Amino acid sequence: MTALDQTLHDIYDEVLHRNPGETEFHQAVYEVLSSLEPVIAKHPQYADAAVIHRMCEPERQIIFRVPWHDDSGTVQINRGFRVEFNSALGPYKGGLRFHPSVYLGIIKFLGFEQIFKNSLTGLPIGGGKGGSDFDPKGRSDNEIMRFCQSFMTELYRHIGEYTDVPAGDIGVGGREIGYLFGQYKRITNRYESGVLTGKGLTWGGSQVRTEATGYGAVFFIDEILKAANDTFDGKRVVVSGSGNVAIYAIEKIHQLGGIVVACSDSSGYVVDEKGIDLELLKEVKQDRRERLDAYIEGRGGAAELVNGRLTWDVPCDIAVPSATQNELDGDDAARLIKNGCKIVAEGANMPCTPEAVKLFTEAQVKFAPGKAANAGGVATSALEMQQNASRDSWTFGYTEQRLAAIMNGIHDRCLSTADEYGAPGNYVVGANIAGFIQVADAMLAQGLI
Ligand code: GLU
Repeated sequence: MTALDQTLHDIYDEVLHRNPGETEFHQAVYEVLSSLEPVIAKHPQYADAAVIHRMCEPERQIIFRVPWHDDSGTVQINRGFRVEFNSALGPYKGGLRFHPSVYLGIIKFLGFEQIFKNSLTGLPIGGGKGGSDFDPKGRSDNEIMRFCQSFMTELYRHIGEYTDVPAGDIGVGGREIGYLFGQYKRITNRYESGVLTGKGLTWGGSQVRTEATGYGAVFFIDEILKAANDTFDGKRVVVSGSGNVAIYAIEKIHQLGGIVVACSDSSGYVVDEKGIDLELLKEVKQDRRERLDAYIEGRGGAAELVNGRLTWDVPCDIAVPSATQNELDGDDAARLIKNGCKIVAEGANMPCTPEAVKLFTEAQVKFAPGKAANAGGVATSALEMQQNASRDSWTFGYTEQRLAAIMNGIHDRCLSTADEYGAPGNYVVGANIAGFIQVADAMLAQGLI
């Protein structure tokens, strides 16, 4: 890890002290702080007014009990979270994650990242995140519905279109947003479309929202390629994961002429030299909710399933880690570099460990951090909020154009900010500083908040 100067080091120490055991949150804070030294040198007012200190403390943290009945009639209890981190730029905005690994430290890391990501989109959204340690795996549709209804029975009092607007994340997709929205509507007796994003297209959802995170990451990579006078044509790409982000990243890469030769899930990874068969992958993962061995079966042996997590063994020009946090470590990074990988873009939130990022930077691999590369999802959520507020709905083509323009804007802001602060070409520095300054200025303007 790079050393922090004294002011930043003191802030980090305090974060460690106030949030014991929350290692992912510590990691996310450290990552942002390590970019801020030139910012406080140039603008001492941020340190004087303790803006960075304040940003590291959520405005509000809600933890609640979620009781529900499983199909056998047994009472189950989970823990629900919503961390409302920063509302300087707009209502808290960020997804809900349902996964057994969820605890306060995960939600705080995600909420912290979301502040800067949302700021980078240039749209009026603050940062928040929520979720539960509920494990949706193997649960029936009815169980999922009862869980979502119970979760919303507490959450509803904390959210609203002007207050806090949740959406999906791992384990929360269109089905869950539907159950959550239905329960919110029953409890409040209001058709408040803008309270959640990721809704279905016939009841207030936006075109392109489903595809947005994956498409956005690929638009970002396309900008990196364009800046080097290159294109996706013929590029070999490895995408990890096979959820919402991975599927639509693969779709857009194939549309732009690249070839995705591998993807993964918790059971292992698939290598398909002819290119991942996306229709089959969607059928296995979205319709049947099965594991990747069903994909291999469907391909009649033309592809191979490798058990274990060494997805990054597969040689590629571009890697798009799109599964989960810390899935790509220093050893993986070293293998990717050795095999000639030139661009890494984070489709997931914080999938690369600090060691991996350091190695990529040293090897001059173009590295796009999640806050920039995966901001297309939340940006399109903000477009959904705009459509809800004006009771309008836009076409697919227009919405996709808006998304592409937003990703282009984020890319250019990262590069110009990196240039301005003496780190040309460094997307990590550019994203952290550009995201930070906008939130910091709004906080200063709004008094001691
Ligand atoms: N969970 C997504 C993210 O990590 C999307 C959040 C949203 O649309 O509010 O940015």
